[in-house]
Amino acid sequence: MFATQALRRAPLTVTLIDRRNFHLFQPLLYQVATGGLSPANIAAPLRNILKRQQNARVLLGEVVDLDPPARTVRLADQTTVEYDALIVATGVSHNYFGRDDWSARAPGLKTIEDATEIRRRILLAFENAELTRDPAARAAMLTFVVIGAGPTGVELAGALAEIARDTLRHDFRAFDPADATILLIDAADRVLPGYPPDLSAKAKRSLQQLGVTVRTAVRVLEIQADKITLQTGEHVADLAAHTVLWAAGVRASPLGALLARRTACTLDRVGRVLVNPDLTIPNHPEIRVIGDLALLNDEHGRPLPGVADVAMQQGRYAARAIVAELHGRTLPPFRYRHKGSMATIGRAAAVADFGRVRLSGYLAWLAWLFVHLINLIGFQSRLLVLLQWAGNYITHNRAARLITHDQSEREMQPESRSS
Ligand SMILES: Cc1cc2nc3c(=O)[nH]c(=O)nc-3n(C[C@H](O)[C@H](O)[C@H](O)COP(=O)(O)OP(=O)(O)OC[C@H]3O[C@@H](n4cnc5c(N)ncnc54)[C@H](O)[C@@H]3O)c2cc1C
Repeated sequence: MFATQALRRAPLTVTLIDRRNFHLFQPLLYQVATGGLSPANIAAPLRNILKRQQNARVLLGEVVDLDPPARTVRLADQTTVEYDALIVATGVSHNYFGRDDWSARAPGLKTIEDATEIRRRILLAFENAELTRDPAARAAMLTFVVIGAGPTGVELAGALAEIARDTLRHDFRAFDPADATILLIDAADRVLPGYPPDLSAKAKRSLQQLGVTVRTAVRVLEIQADKITLQTGEHVADLAAHTVLWAAGVRASPLGALLARRTACTLDRVGRVLVNPDLTIPNHPEIRVIGDLALLNDEHGRPLPGVADVAMQQGRYAARAIVAELHGRTLPPFRYRHKGSMATIGRAAAVADFGRVRLSGYLAWLAWLFVHLINLIGFQSRLLVLLQWAGNYITHNRAARLITHDQSEREMQPESRSS
């Protein structure tokens, strides 16, 4: 979308193809998953965003094949779209590291549907805890495990703890929601492993103050319907847990593998496409791969992170490179300008790493609020989210606490319910 917008003054026709009709602001998905925001707050229709860009058209469709020699892409409905220059930015999805069967038990957070499914599971767990009389069953229902302590896992665990200790504290009669166990686990030896160690330590302290149990250097061996098996060192133990959420890894979109088949480009072990410094792929100067799907090292030889800022900068660069080529020029290689990383941990707590300046606590939280607000698409969304956040902050409520989808899937034995 950023590439398309950056081409608005170029003398060419841009076709934006997406299988969804909206742009999704993924950094705030966890707030939908935890009832703080509604899906429409963080998504904007592509047609609306581009309605004034006369040289751009939007096609709703799933790309299923590419023909680089013919310079065409094929959609699932067999529509063929021709191109002179192609930008591929289909992102990543969850990686269960060979255990895809875990996906049903431990949903990841990537789409609006994932977020509303996670919200359903969290809220149903509390509802089912109100119905049961069996203390062991109730404890399992009130045990929430978040696997993966990167920014998404930290944000989910922090929000879960707030729901249990704050949002729901007066809502149930059979139990105290504050008794819920929120467990955040990671195979690495600290939370936020991509952040400087002092910010990881601060994030851990903030999580613990919220009531999250942080367990690092722990491996998940098995996830079953009502329990999870964990390994710490040589010690293996089962934990009865009803709600398990996955925030542990990514796998490239299948279009990476498709590109590799059609052009013999190289993929890394999670399927990302190794790109040239100008984001093209070898032998195909007309094809650029950007965003989460691309693998490019920085000047220190470290892979650029899969974050929105990299994707947006690469989108704009790809657009400028195409315009430069129209004029017979070549741009210098893409260079990522790192503006900072941040993760929020809960009400008025966050960590932010701006290189030389590192913030934690309230200031970092204000910076987080500001950055996320300005990056939302559209004035209306910004205003609505600001009002929603202000309301949530003042009332300690999460207004979007709706259980949607099919409720028949209550994973509970009828005999354990009270009459
Ligand atoms: C829960 C979560 C939290 C995050 N938090 C942050 C954060 O705080 N800060 C930050 O900087 N980054 C964050 N990120 C990462 C950031 O969202 C990504 O780096 C960014 O969205 C990558 O952009 P992209 O364009 O490469 O891919 P995406 O944004 O994933 O877009 C890919 C698009 O391609 C479409 N698509 C996929 N396959 C096809 C196909 N075959 N045909 C047609 N369309 C297709 C999809 O519908 C989608 O619209 C977060 C990500 C997640 C999931």
